[in-house]
Amino acid sequence: MAKIPHILLIYTGGTIGMTRDYETGALKAFNFDKLLKHIPELKHLNCTIDSASFEGPIDSSNMNPKYWIKITEIIEENYEVFDGFVILHGSDTMSYTASAISFMFENLSKPVIFTGSQLPIGDLRTDAKENMITSIEIAASQKNGKPIISEVCLYFEYKLYRANRTTKVNAEHFQAFASPNYPPLAESGVHLKFDESLLYKSRRSKIIKIRKELEQNIVLLKLFPGITENVVKSILEIDGLKGVVLETYGSGNAPTCKWFVNLLKQALKKGIKIIDVTQCSGGRVILGQYETSVQLQKIGLISGKDITTEAALAKLMYLLGQKIPEKEFKHVFETPLRGELLE
Ligand code: ASP
Repeated sequence: MAKIPHILLIYTGGTIGMTRDYETGALKAFNFDKLLKHIPELKHLNCTIDSASFEGPIDSSNMNPKYWIKITEIIEENYEVFDGFVILHGSDTMSYTASAISFMFENLSKPVIFTGSQLPIGDLRTDAKENMITSIEIAASQKNGKPIISEVCLYFEYKLYRANRTTKVNAEHFQAFASPNYPPLAESGVHLKFDESLLYKSRRSKIIKIRKELEQNIVLLKLFPGITENVVKSILEIDGLKGVVLETYGSGNAPTCKWFVNLLKQALKKGIKIIDVTQCSGGRVILGQYETSVQLQKIGLISGKDITTEAALAKLMYLLGQKIPEKEFKHVFETPLRGELLE
């Protein structure tokens, strides 16, 4: 008889487990035991569930790479014992965390599903129950005794996405996330329907590698009409700066003025890596398509192609942490490592 899947539920914080402070009216994280009491339905799922929790659950605005490593270590310590992992996380920075975790695990062969909610689990109209129950079902879904999903995903409001393709797009709607450049991997309705052609192929035969070195000396620089030389200069001259995610216009375009291109050139000369990503929510960077990106291509900017800003920041921290040889860095960044950008 097939073994019942064993799922680990990891609670990091976020609205899903928050209660209202009656004095201030503000939402704050509360104890995980209480969270489970709100969902007796969990007992009826076709899997066994254990849970782990951050000692002090956090609002995800307080997330940082130290917590990413903590999540990674909880999964690492339990990797052999469990068939799948569900991470409860605040929605505000969920796409950043989930993108980072996707890079930190190479050759993942089990599902890691991030979810959360817009309303606390105790609220009458909460979206937390459906998000959590379906995420657990997804993590427990198997075919021929093997997990259907073997990548890091994000489940929210009836849709399962590749996590490193997502971005939070709405602060109020239950449909809070979008994956503009990659279709949903599954949709939940009466049935849970996976689109197997979109799933990341399992690396079951390969040994899992977990990497926790992340370089935090990077910056996100978003262009806007009127940005001054002084501002760009100050940012690119930050002491110890190793990398820049440059949010450009449209298909990767930027001002052609001399001071701007010269500042980028000087930064590249110092070994700072500069990734060109688009400010648009969908579509991709094509360096050289317009005159306004020809010089960026010439001086050696790295194309982020159709990557999200969240995944670009995570990938940059991850690759800088791996000490990739100088000559290979551009090629490695422009190559999909976990399905985060197109070939
Ligand atoms: N501020 C909350 C958080 O990200 C919002 C949420 O969970 O949806 O932790």
